[in-house]
Amino acid sequence: MRILITGGAGFIGSHLCDRLLDAGHSVIVMDNLITGSTRNIQHLAGRGDFHFIKHNVSNYIFVDGPLGAVLHFASPASPSQTAATSYLKLPIQTLKVGALGTHNALGVAKAKGARFLLASTSEIYGDPLEHPQKETYWGHVDPVGPRSVYDEAKRFAEAITMAYHRAHGVDTRIVRIFNTYGPRMQLDDGRVVPNFVGQALRGEPLTVYGDGSQTRSFCYVADLVSGILALLASDEHMPVNLGNPREVTILEFAQVINRITGNAAGIEFVPGGRTQGDPQRRRPDITKAQETLGWAPETPLEDGLAQAIAYFRQVMQ
Ligand code: UDP
Repeated sequence: MRILITGGAGFIGSHLCDRLLDAGHSVIVMDNLITGSTRNIQHLAGRGDFHFIKHNVSNYIFVDGPLGAVLHFASPASPSQTAATSYLKLPIQTLKVGALGTHNALGVAKAKGARFLLASTSEIYGDPLEHPQKETYWGHVDPVGPRSVYDEAKRFAEAITMAYHRAHGVDTRIVRIFNTYGPRMQLDDGRVVPNFVGQALRGEPLTVYGDGSQTRSFCYVADLVSGILALLASDEHMPVNLGNPREVTILEFAQVINRITGNAAGIEFVPGGRTQGDPQRRRPDITKAQETLGWAPETPLEDGLAQAIAYFRQVMQ
């Protein structure tokens, strides 16, 4: 199959490229590189079955020839208040790629008769009042809060994906991705994994925002990619959560990273660090993925972190 991946030079997109090429597909990456990086795909350069097009998918998309699938992964994804590549610093671009970019990507899928898969997010649940989060939960999102540029864009993206499915019969999939980590995360994107690992490797204290009682559930990228490919191969049109249900507080997470890296600098609490609307608890209910895809994550947190730490160590040299 010939597959278009928007955002294919990003963290998750580039891992998808590798797996799809390994499986014998040919891949076209479309990315404007505002948050992605050619470093993530440079090992694929020169292959006959791989093409890179530098393009902003919020503008009209043109792809020559047939396509079997369109995987729409383009979007800023970090909620950091300080990092230049976060969605808080790229609010209009984030809204446009979730809305106009999704519309364009759906248009390509419709024109080519291709399957379409939307990368959605646990953020569509907002600061959730239900725990753990099931696909049937409608969420608790502030429509005008700072995180709304991402949350509402992704909620719109889900809505237009379902509309193309219902009105135009496009063969669509929606994955709601929970916190994912691994090699190729951008070291300076401000998210908790690169922040903590970078700080630990520099021998600095880990900046725990607030009191660290907020929770997240971290999925290793290889597990996530297996789930995405299983969803793509399935016939499930409604959203499916993918993530790791092992929930940790951010304080515990910091302690794990200090232990694994041997960082003796400890923890620095940053009272004003949490972005407004920062979810207090987040854990996927993955029953649907287990039952419909036969998928569950397999990589223990400590093993996945060892891989991520090795990657960041190499990037920081
Ligand atoms: N966080 C933190 N220190 C950091 C970066 C993040 O304590 O240096 C916290 C943040 O407040 C949030 C959690 O870690 O509660 C996860 O944040 P991240 O930016 O990775 O993404 P989110 O899961 O909120 O989308």
